[in-house]
Order: sequence, then structure tokens, then C-alpha cells
Amino acid sequence: MLNWSTHLLTEYFAAVNAAEDEDEAIRNAVERAVEMVEAEVGAVVRDGHVHGAYGFGGPAPAGALHAVATGEGRLIAPGIGDLYAVASPLGDIAADALVVGRLDESFEPEERQMLQGMAQVLGLNLRSIRVLAAERHLRAEKERQATSAQTRQRLVETLLTIQRAISGRRPLPEILDAVTSGAADLLEGATVVLMLAEGGTDRRLTIASMHGEEISPPDGVAREAMTQAAVLIRPDATGTTIAAPVRVTGEMAGSLVAHLPGTVETHAEERDQLAAFAQQVSLALTDARTVEAVREANHDPVTGLPNRALFLKILNRVLASRGTEADPTSVLFIDLDRFKVVNDSLGHDAGDQLLALVARRLRACVRASDTTARLGGDEFAALLHDSPVESATVVGERIVASIKEPFRVAGREVFIGASVGVATSREVAERSETLLHNADLAMYRAKKDGPGRVLTYEPYMHAEVLDHLSLRGDLQRALREGEFRLQYQPLIRLADGTPAGVEALIRWHSPARGFVSPVDFIPIAEEFGLIVDIGQWVLETSATQVAQWRRTYPDLGLNVNVSGHQLVHPRFADNVMRALALAGLPSSAVTLELTESVLMSEPDLGKAALHSLRALGVQLSIDDFGTGYSSLAYLRELPVDELKIDRAFIARAELTGEDLALVRTIVELAQILGLRTVAEGIENVTQLSSLRALGCGYGQGYHLCRPTDPADIPAKLESLAIVTRLRT
Ligand code: C2E
Ligand code: MG
Ligand code: MG
Repeated sequence: MLNWSTHLLTEYFAAVNAAEDEDEAIRNAVERAVEMVEAEVGAVVRDGHVHGAYGFGGPAPAGALHAVATGEGRLIAPGIGDLYAVASPLGDIAADALVVGRLDESFEPEERQMLQGMAQVLGLNLRSIRVLAAERHLRAEKERQATSAQTRQRLVETLLTIQRAISGRRPLPEILDAVTSGAADLLEGATVVLMLAEGGTDRRLTIASMHGEEISPPDGVAREAMTQAAVLIRPDATGTTIAAPVRVTGEMAGSLVAHLPGTVETHAEERDQLAAFAQQVSLALTDARTVEAVREANHDPVTGLPNRALFLKILNRVLASRGTEADPTSVLFIDLDRFKVVNDSLGHDAGDQLLALVARRLRACVRASDTTARLGGDEFAALLHDSPVESATVVGERIVASIKEPFRVAGREVFIGASVGVATSREVAERSETLLHNADLAMYRAKKDGPGRVLTYEPYMHAEVLDHLSLRGDLQRALREGEFRLQYQPLIRLADGTPAGVEALIRWHSPARGFVSPVDFIPIAEEFGLIVDIGQWVLETSATQVAQWRRTYPDLGLNVNVSGHQLVHPRFADNVMRALALAGLPSSAVTLELTESVLMSEPDLGKAALHSLRALGVQLSIDDFGTGYSSLAYLRELPVDELKIDRAFIARAELTGEDLALVRTIVELAQILGLRTVAEGIENVTQLSSLRALGCGYGQGYHLCRPTDPADIPAKLESLAIVTRLRT
């Protein structure tokens, strides 16, 4: 007896010990215990459940087993009968026991003792398996946390690399490669493909970039992810494919697809990573497209030359970096003579060809380091570095001679000419607009004297051409005598048509000159330093007016245009707050509009003033947005609340497709940056509905409401509100 029991006991310990998990240990223990005492049935009762039931033939009689385990009753098993049963506790918990049942004889004391020992060994084993499992679980959890922290870190780093490629204005293909190689890095061992849709009607998918082992284009799954707008994970012949949709400026643009070895079940985390990555890629590409759009917006498509905005920006940079008066910068303003004749008689295509040829000749007349630009129509400009007025005049003469030579356009010879105005920087930190304007004045004079001339700017031209000096006196008198008036144009919430605020627009009916547009007199008021006083009058008058309207429309806001000259005035913020205090208008009701070019030309001075105004609760808006040259990076730094999209873009917004793209990009960019968007100059219902569909927040324009005299504003606001009430 001792022999077989020792042998079988050793086997029992070995079997229980070797078990990898609780179920296996229990199964081994029960079977061997039943075998050793030649019993019929056995089971373990633990944590209130029956485990490893053996020999019952059918379902184990749980109730009877529980009863035996706690020391009561006999074991009656269906289909077997009434059994002698013995329960051996597994440990301290009495109800946890190994139960064995035998039909024909009761258990001897030695048998009971042996079963007791076996039960205890099992109990010990089960406990250590639990501890081990818990430890293993903990360790796995810790490892998982460590790797996911590492992965997150890598994800952030990869995205930063991509962002850097974008803000460094790297070419688009390079950015796309950074995307796929970044994702492949993140999902170790994966092949990553970025599939983008081409513009055509069928929107064919092509591989924009691939990183890793070459695979055939995953067209199907890429397209499916796009149509379902969802991240897909699929088994395939050699592993798993994950596809995440990519959007550019809000529209489905393609898919980021990863192919990995291994089964679908093992890649849940990679699926989430690719999804997060694709989302970032969408933002990044939208940003990159914006950079491209801005670039496109800075070059003239006909000649490939920089346009006016870029020219001014370059001129700004040159003027700012020019340390001494020893290296003057000259600007040539070049206007073609008789271009209109060619354009009208030979057609636009011929006109465009001619402009491209002119651009080539102009470039040949200046040094490679100089900048030539097309300002618009038949106007060009050149920026000459280190060029005193004498040598600039020589370049001007060369240009006139070169343009006089015949051009071959549309199979025939055409003859045109050029008039050139020259302006040279005199003071350090001269404004680029001023310099270009002076060159323009000189050109105007040159043209008047007879075409084909070069003239240098002289201060008298100013007064002469625009009648400046008397205008200065007139403006001073206008302010003194109260000749200025304000009109107000409502800003409409596009979603529901309700008025959100009004923009104050200055009007001048001069007794001597008649109506003078602010476009004409504001620059002169700026030049003579009158704008600070005029601007203050506008602020005080409009603030008082709006405070009064707010008794009926408590949420009505006020937008006021502010000139760059006001912004850099040391007491500007004080002046604004004084005007608001006098009127009793809260600062949160006021939005100051500054043009993009002002912000770009006075980057540092302006920024300080903007921050202090913002701190006082006043909101800030960039007026005529899109006409200047804001870098995205710069926009992010500015404390701005609102972008007013220039009406030049809105005029194109009634068209579809490409022409909408820039407006959509601006709206989306604003959303990313958390800014309000206002569309200026909405002139018809088509533009209105396009803008509404794009998600532009607010609108202004003749179609909604013209600039209106203050007396008529309450009625306008009332009718706008009524229309809305009727509609909703
Ligand atoms: P802005 O601030 O961009 O003002 C919008 C201009 O567009 C206004 O011209 C307005 O009358 C006009 N406008 C509004 N809706 C439409 C439309 O649907 N179609 C078209 N074609 N035009 C529309 P306005 O009043 O001649 O003012 C011209 C510019 O003069 C303003 O441009 C602003 O830069 C400046 N300005 C006006 N008042 C002030 C002022 O009080 N202070 C300063 N510093 N500048 C002012
Ligand atoms: Mg404005
Ligand atoms: Mg504007």
C-alpha cells in the first residue's frame, strides 16, 4: 500500500506542479485522487464553484458537492447513486475542498489523510499559480505602459519632424515621404503607403509615397476606408492591412495604408496608432496645402514673377536689413504703353504671351539678384539692390530700349513701349508701400510727359499729382468742422441670418471736393499724421452709437478699422480704453480691424500693442485677409480672434472647384487656429450659399446690407431679425 501510494503521490505532485494554470492543476489533481483511492467521482469546490468534475457522466450535482464540501450530507449523483464522500480542505477556507465519492465502501482514515495531503498540495499550488499569474499580469501591464509611453513619445517626435518639414516649406513630396517613413518607423516592420486621390472626375488613387518593402498598391482597402470614412483592419495573404482615411481641407483626399506581418488580433494597438497618425497627417497636409495656396497666391501665373504682395514683402525685408544710407535701394515702376491695344485686338491669349515675353526681357535688364515682379495688368516693378538713383535711371533707360524692340506674338510682330518711374530709398526704415507709391507717382508723371520716358521721383510730384498739400489742410478742417460722418454695415451670422455686429466706415463729403473715398484720403491722413485724431473720433463716435443700440440689441458688437499708424502710437491702448469708457461700451463688444499688411510691416511694435489690447478684453481681427503675406507660423503667434476674408476671394467663391479651394482653406485654417471667419463683400445669393456651405461663420456685403446711415440702422437690424424669425 505504501509503495503504490508513494509512487502515485510523486506522480500526483509532479502533475499538479507541472500544470500551467489553475484549471489544469485541478483537473490533474481530481483525476489522480479518484484513481488512487479507486473512487467513482471527484471534483473541487472553490470560490463557490465546481471545478474539474470527474466521473459524473453528465453535469456535476453542484448543490450536493457544495453540501459535502461544507461537511454536510451525502453525495447523491444522478445516474450513479448514493456515494460515500469525503471532503478535504484546500487551505484555510473550509468551503474550498477536494471532494471524492465512492460507491461501495467508505474511506479509511489513511485514505482520508492521504487525500488531505493531496488537497493541501493542490491548494498551495493553486495559490502560487494565482500569485504568479497576478505578477505576470502586472509585469505585462507595466511593459505595456512603458511601450505605449515610448510609442507615444515616438509618435510625437515623428509628427514634429513632419511639422518641421512643413513649416520649413519643404517641397510637398518631401513632406509626404516624412509621413510614410514616420509611420513605418512607428509601426515597426510595416510597409506604409500614402494613397492620394487625383483631381480628375474619377479621382483615381495614386501612390503619393511608399516606405518599406514594396507591395502592390492597396487600392481597394484604401478606397473603402475613404468611402466608409473609417479605419479598417483586414487579414490578407501575408499578414494584416490597416487603412485610415486622410482628409485635406476637410475633404476625403486619400488613405494611409499599413501592411504588417501577423494576425489582425495582434494589431489592435497599431490600428489606433495609424488612426491617430492619419488624423495628424490630415491636419499637416491641410497646413501644407495652405502653404502651397499661399505660395500660389504670391506668384503671377502668367509670367511666373512674384506678385505685388510678395514684391512688397521682399522690399520690406530689404529695407529693414539695409543698415546705412550708403547702399540705397531703388524701385522701378514700369508701365507698358499700348499694351491694351494688343490685348484688345489679338485677344487675351496673345496678351498673356506678350506679358510673359516682357517679363523675360525685364529680367534680362537687371542683375540676377534683383527682383522683378508683376504688379497687375500691364504694370511691373523691379527692386534694385545697392543702387543709387543714377544707376537705377540707367537700368530704367535700358528697360525702355529693350521693350521698344518688336515682340513676336501670335505669328506677328507687335510694337509696344514702357514708361518707368524711379524711386530711391532716402531714409533708413522707409516703408515699402511708400517707396513703391513714389515710383508709381514718377511713372505717372513720365507717362504724362509722353510715353517711353524714365523719370525720377521728386517730392513735388506728390503734391502735384494728388494735390496733397491742400488736401492736408482740407482734412484738418474736416476734422475741426465735423465734416466726417460714419456709416455702419452689419455683420451677419451666416447660420441664421441674425445681425452680430456692425462695422463703422468713415465718410467724407468735402464742401470743396464732394465725396472722397476713404481709400483715397486715409493714406494721406496717415502720411500727415492726422489719422490718430481721425481714428480717435471714429472710435468715440461709433462706441457711443453702438452703446445706444445695445439697449435694444444687447449682444451687438462693434468693428472699427484701425490704421497701422494708430497701432504704433504709444498711447493707442489708453486711447481705445478712454473712448470705450466715455461711451460706456464694454471692451468685449469691440473688435479692432487691422489689415494684414500693417501687421506684417510692423511685426514687433504691433504685436506688443495687440497683446496689451487683448489683455484689456478688446478683440482683434485681420482685415482683407489673403491679400498680404502672412506666414502660418506668424498667424499662430498673433493674439487674433477673427479673420476677414478679402472680398477678392469672395468674388470667386460663387464659382466652384479650384476657386473655392482658397476660401475653404482659409476657413479651415481659421478653425484649426480657433478663429472666427467673416466673409467680406458678399454680393449675391450664390456667394452667400457657398460660404454658408463652407462653414464660414459671418458675412458682410451689399447682398446682406449696404453701409447705412446710423438713423436707418435700427430699422435694418429689426428687419434682419424679423426675416430670421420668419424663417425659423
Ligand atoms: P474695409 O475695412 O475692408 O471695408 C470694407 C469696404 O468694402 C467698405 O468700403 C465697404 O463699403 C465695402 N463693401 C462692403 N460690402 C461690399 C460689397 O458687397 N461689395 C463691394 N464691392 N464693396 C463692399 P469703404 O467704406 O469705401 O472703405 C474702404 C476702406 O477704407 C475700408 O476697407 C477700410 O480699410 C478703410 N476705412 C474705412 N473707414 C475707416 C476708418 O474709420 N478708419 C480707418 N483707418 N480705415 C477706414
Ligand atoms: Mg474693415
Ligand atoms: Mg476689408
